[in-house]
Amino acid sequence: MSETIVIAGAGHAAGQAAVSLRQGGFSGRVVLIGDEPYLPYQRPPLSKKFLAGEVKIDRLLIRHDKFYSDHDIEVRLSTRIDEFDRNQQTVRLDTGKQLEYDRLILATGSRVRKIDMPGIDLDGVHYLRTIDDVVRIHEGFQPGNNLIIIGAGYIGLEVAAVAATRGLNVTVLEMADRVMMRVVAPEVSAFFEKVHREAGVDIRCGRDPNSALLGDSHVRTLRSADGEELPADIVVIGIGIVPTTDIAAAAGLECDDGIVVDEFCRTSDPHILAIGDCTNHPNSLLSRRLRLESVHNAQEQAKAAAAMLCGHPKPYAQIPWFWSDQYDLKLQIVGISGTHDQVVLRGNPDSRSFAAFYMQGDQLIAVDAINRPREFMLSKKLIAQGARVEPEILADSSIEFKDLATAALT
Ligand code: FAD
Repeated sequence: MSETIVIAGAGHAAGQAAVSLRQGGFSGRVVLIGDEPYLPYQRPPLSKKFLAGEVKIDRLLIRHDKFYSDHDIEVRLSTRIDEFDRNQQTVRLDTGKQLEYDRLILATGSRVRKIDMPGIDLDGVHYLRTIDDVVRIHEGFQPGNNLIIIGAGYIGLEVAAVAATRGLNVTVLEMADRVMMRVVAPEVSAFFEKVHREAGVDIRCGRDPNSALLGDSHVRTLRSADGEELPADIVVIGIGIVPTTDIAAAAGLECDDGIVVDEFCRTSDPHILAIGDCTNHPNSLLSRRLRLESVHNAQEQAKAAAAMLCGHPKPYAQIPWFWSDQYDLKLQIVGISGTHDQVVLRGNPDSRSFAAFYMQGDQLIAVDAINRPREFMLSKKLIAQGARVEPEILADSSIEFKDLATAALT
């Protein structure tokens, strides 16, 4: 245990890996290196309670500084790893210093997908990935201001919900024909579009993306492809992310839409593991490889990597889940839809509490639960077990879901 483990990145996965290494009994040196100025923190509140001003930075931290000092975890913040040398087993920092490693854990996460449009560099135009991004957004986040959001994925819609509640005039522009199109069924998109419109948000789907931002030094207007001009005091762009694989790819590690790892988070180099958003990993429960952008995945892969390095390997195999908070609605998603042939609704969307079940034949493969925590929790088990359920029974709200789920599980 006199080994040195260097963790590249100090985000959610990195923070969990450091904790799990110590919990798993690793007593060697652990060095956490991140290019942001903050200890590992939770990003989900950035577009929710932190944006709304309801929680302070302190509450975002996964662990406070005392934890790292008490557990002898060296943390180097505002420090970038520019590259690593696999033969020498060293990382080179932007300070010019080098550090040797016995094992390297890559937890470099993902970064925002950038948009190429005129005026993108004007003041008041933002992406949202970090605490610092939100601090900048807060400057223009004032009641009465005109906010344009480009992209109607989770982050765009969460920002819309917070902004509308705060009294901004919100317009959401989306290229696809409906909101959250990549992940939810048309019925669920329609529900969220209705909720946002009722809250005063102007949602416009099917937009030609060829627009331009205009202003002197600060954004003032968005001119769309058809020439319409929309007033804009602030613009927030949320059009997805890309995995951060630059240093891994430069070092010759296998990358394919993420750093390629196995179920123990091992890369193509036996001394290097990778975890979290930056990985492309296998999932035996789903019989496929995938890349995920979720806290659950970051945490669980971090635990799997730490277990591997502590000498008690346990393969990572989890049904993915995710959540999004918009107004009084908690959307919880479990499983991966897309290969379904039928969507079954349970409950009435007008009640603001319902679930959409994605079926492949009579097998449940994914669920979107809106204010339905019980359906979400039990569905996790059903999906993991490959349970078969009659779609008609699922849709029948007169049958208690817990009875139905128990019957399907036994
Ligand atoms: P990250 O958290 O991105 O951390 C990676 C870190 O590594 C970053 O700090 C990065 O700057 C740093 N880094 C990269 N390269 C280097 C380098 N060469 N040297 C040093 N440091 C480097 N997930 C959910 O499950 N539910 C949600 O509701 C949800 N909401 C979200 C809302 C927002 C606004 C955002 C941005 C994300 C949200 N997510 C949510 C996604 C979730 O936060 C991510 O999946 C999770 O943070 C991934 O953790 P990670 O450690 O892999 O990557």
